[in-house]
Amino acid sequence: MRIADHVVDLVGNTPLVKLNSVTKPGSGLVAAKVEYLNPGGSSKDRIAVRMVDAAEKSGALKPGGTIVEPTSGNTGVGLALVAQQRGYKCVFVCPDKVAEDKRNVLKAYGAEVVVCPTAVPPEHPDSYYSVSDRLVREIDGAWKPDQYSNPAGPQSHYETTGPEIWRDTDGKVTHFVAGVGTGGTITGTGRYLKEVSDGKVKVVGVDPEGSVYSGGSGRPYLVEGVGEDFWPAAYDPSIPDEIIAVSDADSFDMTRRLAREEGLLVGGSCGMAVVAALKVAEREGPDSLVVVLLPDGGRGYMSKIFNDEWMSSYGFLRTPLDSHTAEPVV
Ligand code: PMP
Repeated sequence: MRIADHVVDLVGNTPLVKLNSVTKPGSGLVAAKVEYLNPGGSSKDRIAVRMVDAAEKSGALKPGGTIVEPTSGNTGVGLALVAQQRGYKCVFVCPDKVAEDKRNVLKAYGAEVVVCPTAVPPEHPDSYYSVSDRLVREIDGAWKPDQYSNPAGPQSHYETTGPEIWRDTDGKVTHFVAGVGTGGTITGTGRYLKEVSDGKVKVVGVDPEGSVYSGGSGRPYLVEGVGEDFWPAAYDPSIPDEIIAVSDADSFDMTRRLAREEGLLVGGSCGMAVVAALKVAEREGPDSLVVVLLPDGGRGYMSKIFNDEWMSSYGFLRTPLDSHTAEPVV
């Protein structure tokens, strides 16, 4: 019988699907790796399992301990799944730009959620980094995975995401494109694909305009889960061959097109990564095979990206949801 022992055993082995409608004629093949099909709904399930495994092994996380982490939601869900399986408590710290739907998901899995202001620098005592550090000091048996510096994060992508892409493309992948948040995905997956292909696979990082990876100062942008205002240790800047910056407006417009034209209801960082992947596939031509990683699903963004009023309030709205024409109205 094919019955998994636990939902955590279903993490990974996500499929690749060809993008058909958003691609331009004459471009290379663009294949999306659909990470929302992980049981917790994102690529972060992968790092959660490996970070907890490593902490149990090193003794940093003891039976009955509490996992404390600053997370924009997805890492929290992954950690909450593993915590349920193994009997840990979870306290997550989120910036206030994270959609309320997403925070409620964490609570639904049984975690406690602490909300902090987005518009303060990382060293500020109210920043979500500072607050989580304080909670770790105050809670007995607390362990902070710290996805920004934990080597088990990139390692999980080196051991799973990279080999899956190589296997599922029969080693024909030419480019790997992914958004950069902690940098774990691009670092681990990119390193594996470069090693296995003797450097032939080119790695493209994607960053919201304004973030440090593409030379910005860390000014606010609205795409969630990607971009930073500092350089995390999980990111190895020698891995990407190139970084492409994408605006919030283009990211969100593409996110809506992916739902409407490709049947992929995904998050804003997915639209952002696809904008860059399409650029690469167009530039590299029909012989390229561009794999783009789509980190999460779109259900957590219904009140933002998939809400016309919210989109209009930022001047992002190009095609209303109830428009029956594929042509933009403005
Ligand atoms: N997109 C979303 C929605 C995310 O939550 C994350 C993780 N912060 C990323 C992209 C980026 O992945 P990574 O942290 O591995 O760079």
